[in-house]
Amino acid sequence: MKEAKNLLFLTCLLWLSEISMAIKTLHGDEYTSLRKSMVETQIEMRGIKDQRVLDAMLSVPRHKFVPPNQVPYAYEDRPLPIGEGQTISQPYIVALMCEKLLLNPEDRVLEVGTGSGYHAAVISKIVKEVYTVEIIPSLGNKAKQVLGKEGYNNVKVKIGDGYYGWEEHSPFDAIVVTASATHIPPPLLKQLKPGGRMVIPIGGAFQIQSLILVQKSSEGKVKTESICPVRFVPLRGGPQ
Ligand code: SAM
Repeated sequence: MKEAKNLLFLTCLLWLSEISMAIKTLHGDEYTSLRKSMVETQIEMRGIKDQRVLDAMLSVPRHKFVPPNQVPYAYEDRPLPIGEGQTISQPYIVALMCEKLLLNPEDRVLEVGTGSGYHAAVISKIVKEVYTVEIIPSLGNKAKQVLGKEGYNNVKVKIGDGYYGWEEHSPFDAIVVTASATHIPPPLLKQLKPGGRMVIPIGGAFQIQSLILVQKSSEGKVKTESICPVRFVPLRGGPQ
């Protein structure tokens, strides 16, 4: 009996030391090198070339935007849970969506689906202003807090139904929707500038969806193009 207790004690000690070692390697400069490796192996190697996007992905600390229990996984090649049944998108998908938007330093961008605030932070490193709308108040408020604390002062967060965009700040040079819709919301199309770009996943919930690039010509003509299959959480709200 005593031997069994000793064995259990030793197993627990070993387990605790393994956990603390794992946490230790994720401190300080380690995050910078994990981020560098994320950009090289998950993003550049998959063909993302826009240097502004690569630089933004290198500079934004993804680990500051995830819940504490997800921090050890912050630079892994996958989406992560952020609470309320929602996710922070896979880093590669964030980079791909940014590249397809052909962002410019003077752009004003609308994001629908703030979630953790990470994607908005990445865009904010490339453009002049980011307006982001989140329908779940607890997520929107948390994102607002992190963005403020980390100094992303050109990002404005609103709690509301992003299906209707953010009319008072429209028109936008680019719009990114980070939840899957069954159709392109007409208010978003209206709030896109002539010459503007929108990236939006289209498709039913829990199905393979299609990431769509929408381009509005300077004459207002709309052209759509499918980029790749994706899997996003569903866009809520809109007309019921
Ligand atoms: N961009 C986020 C990030 O960087 O963490 C990830 C977004 S997560 C995949 C999708 C988000 O869209 C969720 O936080 C969800 O609550 C939000 N959402 C869904 N429908 C929405 C709507 N109609 N308006 C605004 N946000 C919405």
